[in-house]
Amino acid sequence: MTNLERDIFILGAGPSGLSTALHLAQHYPHLTPRIRILEKAHHPRPKLCAGGLVLDAEVILERLGLDVSEVPHVDVDRTHFEFAGKGLSLRNPLRQTLRVIRRNEFDAWLAKKAQSRGIEITEGVTVKNLVVEKDCVRVDTDQGQFWARIVVGADGSNGITRRCILPDSPVHTARVLEVLTPTLPSPNFSATGGVLGRGQDAYFDFFPVPANIAGYVWDFPTQVNGVPMRCWGVYDTNLLADEKRPQLKDPLAQEMSRHGFNLGEYEIKGHPIRWYDPKNPVSVPRALLVGDAAGADPIFGEGISIALGYGAIAAREIGESFQRNDYSFSGYKHRLMRSGLGQTLFTRWFITQVVYTLKWRWFQFLLWRILKPIVGIAGWLFVLNWSKRIH
Ligand SMILES: Cc1cc2nc3c(=O)[nH]c(=O)nc-3n(C[C@H](O)[C@H](O)[C@H](O)COP(=O)(O)OP(=O)(O)OC[C@H]3O[C@@H](n4cnc5c(N)ncnc54)[C@H](O)[C@@H]3O)c2cc1C
Repeated sequence: MTNLERDIFILGAGPSGLSTALHLAQHYPHLTPRIRILEKAHHPRPKLCAGGLVLDAEVILERLGLDVSEVPHVDVDRTHFEFAGKGLSLRNPLRQTLRVIRRNEFDAWLAKKAQSRGIEITEGVTVKNLVVEKDCVRVDTDQGQFWARIVVGADGSNGITRRCILPDSPVHTARVLEVLTPTLPSPNFSATGGVLGRGQDAYFDFFPVPANIAGYVWDFPTQVNGVPMRCWGVYDTNLLADEKRPQLKDPLAQEMSRHGFNLGEYEIKGHPIRWYDPKNPVSVPRALLVGDAAGADPIFGEGISIALGYGAIAAREIGESFQRNDYSFSGYKHRLMRSGLGQTLFTRWFITQVVYTLKWRWFQFLLWRILKPIVGIAGWLFVLNWSKRIH
């Protein structure tokens, strides 16, 4: 082996890459000086995301000794899952149901925590290509070549790692649009009787499904530089892409106008989310994938807690591979599938195939309005709370 710059190169300093490094440092501290994270941007960097953190994310961070309440945030007391304005409402009497952060602030905070634990992050380096060789991985960047014993692909939905190591693996990608607006005082009623201000609650509305948009419209409270705002968006798994669909922005415009906002007055931003499919490979010898590169939650495109969870599992796999001096990562997928994260991802993938392909209005009505107690309990038992069974 020649010119190894570091043993472990992590490509991307988002939640999945930083979580992998933080878990390695926690469980295998002797590996800390052997880790190097390469990140193309400079923190705090912009990242399009609604920033909804579920409790599982906080549980993982707490186990790393990190308190996310240090990051500017908005607490959501009640989260609504609706079909055309009515449905299930979730509340956790002990804590918030969702904590909404801004990703530039959250990711920069997490990167600082990693650096304070001795993890090296090199910013402003873009990875261009990867070549897995017999006993090392060559990483080609805009700043020259590096050699690593192993590589972690934590470079997100559009990342280069997956394209280089698994070029033929199928890709399932959701389309997502997001808009930020000012908030309005609550309660406040529009001329047509719609509620303008929606307080501190978060909303998911599945009304676009019968129109072949296999997803939902959301509306969260948020803050930008301390100023209260609302974050709106639309998510489409693309599961009904073969059917005739309206433009993705149409349901978002419809929902916003019900609450007194004109979409045309705001800047719309879009980014894909690569979602998890149990058939997809997640590693090759000497390289493994975490976070969106491996696949986010397909139902909601929820990926921050999932990215943090991938980091915990990848760190175990990497730590043991160094103990055994075996970098095949042949057990990584199995380890993932039997973990709480793998179980929730599989369950969510299965639910996605049902909830979005049975797209009829009467079914969505039944699910979110009539069966709401069952849906609530099933969600609590099988979709959330997986982080306690992470390994
Ligand atoms: C509009 C939208 C709204 C969302 N809302 C939510 C939400 O409310 N809650 C939630 O849980 N999830 C949400 N998500 C999903 C969430 O943003 C992702 O799942 C999460 O960011 C995945 O983390 P990651 O670390 O895998 O990837 P990323 O956060 O994408 O991080 C990848 C990192 O790799 C770097 N990188 C990429 N390519 C290279 C390269 N070639 N060389 C070097 N560095 C590179 C990037 O700069 C970046 O820092 C949303 C996503 C979108 C698009």
